[in-house]
Amino acid sequence: MGDGSSSGVQRYVEQGAKWLERRKAYRDSVRKLHFDTIAVHGMYSLDEAFAGGQGGIIEPIFPATSQAYRDSDEMEAALSYQIPTWCYSRIHNPTVFYLEETLALLESYGCDCNASALCTSSGMAAIKQAVEPLLANQGDAAERINFVSAAQVYGGTFQLFNVRMAERGAKVRWVTEPWHMDEWQELVDDDTRFLYAEMPSNPQQAFCDVRAVADVAHRHGIPFIVDSTIATPALMRPLEHGADIVVHSLSKTAGAGGCTISGGIVARHGLVSRHLPPEVQADYATWLKLWPFRDSGPCMSPYTAFILLNEIRTLRLKMEQLSANTVKVAEFLSHHPKVERVDYLGLPNHRLHDLATRYMRLVDDGSPVYGHLMSFVIAGTPADARRFFDGLQRIVRATDLGRIKSVATIPAISTHQQQGEEGRKLAGIPLTMVRLCVGGEHPDDTIADLDQALARI
Ligand code: PLP
Repeated sequence: MGDGSSSGVQRYVEQGAKWLERRKAYRDSVRKLHFDTIAVHGMYSLDEAFAGGQGGIIEPIFPATSQAYRDSDEMEAALSYQIPTWCYSRIHNPTVFYLEETLALLESYGCDCNASALCTSSGMAAIKQAVEPLLANQGDAAERINFVSAAQVYGGTFQLFNVRMAERGAKVRWVTEPWHMDEWQELVDDDTRFLYAEMPSNPQQAFCDVRAVADVAHRHGIPFIVDSTIATPALMRPLEHGADIVVHSLSKTAGAGGCTISGGIVARHGLVSRHLPPEVQADYATWLKLWPFRDSGPCMSPYTAFILLNEIRTLRLKMEQLSANTVKVAEFLSHHPKVERVDYLGLPNHRLHDLATRYMRLVDDGSPVYGHLMSFVIAGTPADARRFFDGLQRIVRATDLGRIKSVATIPAISTHQQQGEEGRKLAGIPLTMVRLCVGGEHPDDTIADLDQALARI
């Protein structure tokens, strides 16, 4: 029975420390495995399956909102974060934990750093949670706090940075050609809090030199954040190249079946930020989880984590197949007279092909692979683009991407509509641009659908 004595709490603290040691030893052993093995098993061992009593071969869903405690001493130790605990599912949940561990291990695969992950209710929640603490006013002249971002970002991110962050007194400075280093260097000053890029970007396929941008950030004592949703850790792991934080919309390719909205943040241990105290830099994702995240509550549901764990087991296989399909479709489109331009990093004549090839490689294989997102510009008017789009018969018209089913959209009237004409001009999104995310259908069938729709122009 708990008596509130320091020895009672201490007993739980000692047990918790032993449990953490065992978990660390197991994680260290998992880190030595190959990417696919980590994706398939994560931190769920056979020992753990048997300890749970049932020996179930996949991670169980723990839907309970909260954890029961043996006595008041255990509760006190848990809620003061002195012992590992599930406490309350807004903060911790065992099923979400398995996903967070898997994500951190995959994103730091082959990297000389350790990383932790935090899963969120959406990709936008991940981006907002990741950047907000970096923008806190620490007695600075408020009008000077700024951050520098590539202009080619998802429309929701554009709005978050341009409108919501401005409302809070942080100004975004847009880099219009992020593949050139000059702009990054020119826009950073002593009041810049972080650098940010999405790559390959949705929908334009912008790309930047990850290592060089990370170096600029670190020279100024600030972190570099990469939205790596489109690449996924199967094709690129920005932490390996010096980035500090990776954000994901797990709603996309990581959850290709299309059943969840979800996000994730992965942060390297010991990230660079002269605006954060050392104990926060030491493990930013865990700090976010235990403190600011707990107060705002954009947590992932255990049901979502369960779906994603099962999706991620086959991530590399999917990326390889979907990317191979996309190369065929991009080649077809690039030779079609009704198509003015195709933006796909996998096409050798794309201006960023060589740069992307330095970073995008199929994990544990090494061959250049560029993912399944592309965009193309119709040779014609915006009305022609709509005629083509409305003529698609199997490719799904939806404001979505990353699916096992091919999906298309016209970004200017959907995903990037809210940023307005000026914002789209800055980001290079004309009304005639179509975004296509190629799915798992046979590429000949996808090509046939595109061909008949193009014939309507
Ligand atoms: N990042 C990228 C690259 C995206 O494409 C999206 C959504 O399309 C997001 C972030 C936002 O993710 P979510 O829709 O899960 O909030």
